[in-house]
Amino acid sequence: MTSRVAILGSGVCGLAIAIRLREIDPDIDITFFESEDRIGGLARSLTLGDQVADMGPHRIHTELPDVQAFLHDIAGEEMVRVERRSRMWLRGQWIDYPPNPFEILRVLGPGPIVAAMTSFAAGTLGRLVGRDGGPENFETVMTRAFGTELYRLIVLGYTRKVWKVDPRTLHADIARVRVSAGGLDRLVKRVLVGEKEGQETALRRFYYIPGGVERLVTVMHNRLAGACRIETRRRVADVRPMGDGHWAVTTDGPDGGRRTDSFDRVFSTIPVTDLLDMLHTHRPAPAVAEARREMRFIANFLVCVLVDRPRVSDSQWLYFPGGDTIFNRGYEPKNFHSTMGGDQRSLLVLEITCHHGDAIWNAGDGALVRRTLEGLERTGLVRRDEVRETLVHRIPHTYPVYDLDYRRRLGRVWRYLAGFPGLLSVGRQGLFLHNNMDHSIHMGFRAADVALREHPADPERHFYREVRRFQKFRIVD
Ligand SMILES: Cc1cc2nc3c(=O)[nH]c(=O)nc-3n(C[C@H](O)[C@H](O)[C@H](O)COP(=O)(O)OP(=O)(O)OC[C@H]3O[C@@H](n4cnc5c(N)ncnc54)[C@H](O)[C@@H]3O)c2cc1C
Repeated sequence: MTSRVAILGSGVCGLAIAIRLREIDPDIDITFFESEDRIGGLARSLTLGDQVADMGPHRIHTELPDVQAFLHDIAGEEMVRVERRSRMWLRGQWIDYPPNPFEILRVLGPGPIVAAMTSFAAGTLGRLVGRDGGPENFETVMTRAFGTELYRLIVLGYTRKVWKVDPRTLHADIARVRVSAGGLDRLVKRVLVGEKEGQETALRRFYYIPGGVERLVTVMHNRLAGACRIETRRRVADVRPMGDGHWAVTTDGPDGGRRTDSFDRVFSTIPVTDLLDMLHTHRPAPAVAEARREMRFIANFLVCVLVDRPRVSDSQWLYFPGGDTIFNRGYEPKNFHSTMGGDQRSLLVLEITCHHGDAIWNAGDGALVRRTLEGLERTGLVRRDEVRETLVHRIPHTYPVYDLDYRRRLGRVWRYLAGFPGLLSVGRQGLFLHNNMDHSIHMGFRAADVALREHPADPERHFYREVRRFQKFRIVD
């Protein structure tokens, strides 16, 4: 009998699940439920005038062989290699990013760099004699890597700005997952002797797909060759085990029409917090409800500014650790590839993170645009009279917040979810993972393999065990 499968959410993870399920069983009957008006999730692009921007720029890089082969197969001829150029606005001047010690010397003078070297050496020496500075958190890992002085000058402000919390309340995994520039020793080594290709702590080159990341979504969708039902603008409102081995998925359509469909198996890539809320009404578990209450995602506003100039900067990413701008990061899509916009103008996109319900979340688009333009003028990037148009886009689930207790909490959640046969929660939102597209694609393949090919009798137990491996994925900035 044909197996009926629901995939909740149609980002790259959901698409990868469907692609692999169809490879394993070409007769499988797949339905996607997607709340947005089109597929792609975080890997979609925005348009303003004749310019296109990803929702957060999406460079393509992977260390996972299965995803490397897959991407090569579906988009190898389209992807282009781009030289990375990023800059940071530090104390009123632009420096290269990742920071180069000589640039820091130029901008800050010898005092801070000597203090940075001294604090880095003191920290290393302290550890050698067994003084390790207490329990680990984001700050202890970063100060170990950079020394307290450089941490205070660059990392502290940026971290506070992005996460809006004291960095000592963040888990060390946030520092570990974003190996970024490496430590001070790696910074110096990179400048003096360079790094071997494939072992970089910061990408010097990356792949990009001309036209924007949504093109990658289109190519993945093409691979499905129309073999699935994709219901967009259908928000999942409830997921319920029927007790007879089937699942009931209730969705709300654009016209307010509510519908319930029955499936043999469900793969959910929607935020795990939402999924837990739905399941809790059918099988309450107070300890899990308590864990779920503490799980939060940071949101991100993208303020897109269309500028009457062919190019605004020479960089792809621009970083703003200081308090003189409301935005923490910016990007200029045309510097990723010339196909991202017409010749006469350029688009600059500024990212502003916030917590759900805080002052920024409630500020309103007008205030965010005003404060963004003030910041752009302050940095000398854009004058107000050059701005043609603006657009504000909100991404409610951007980064999962790893606080000090998050691992214990997640362990509890995975154990609970493993008790629902026929349901797997997968992907960045589904596994509460700070990850990249390649990781989501890999997890999608693994979920399908485990469920249909490797452990069809008990996939949940096996899949949630593998989650620990997924937590070790690293993001090379
Ligand atoms: C600012 C930013 C920059 C990034 N840069 C890069 C980069 O340079 N390179 C890289 O590889 N990765 C990057 N990433 C990460 C990448 O975007 C993600 O890892 C990947 O797209 C996640 O895919 P996913 O399918 O797991 O989740 P998502 O794309 O989040 O998919 C989840 C889907 O579920 C849908 N959904 C949610 N709730 C419901 C509901 N109730 N009912 C129905 N549907 C629902 C959503 O609309 C969405 O389509 C970046 C991410 C961000 C936020």
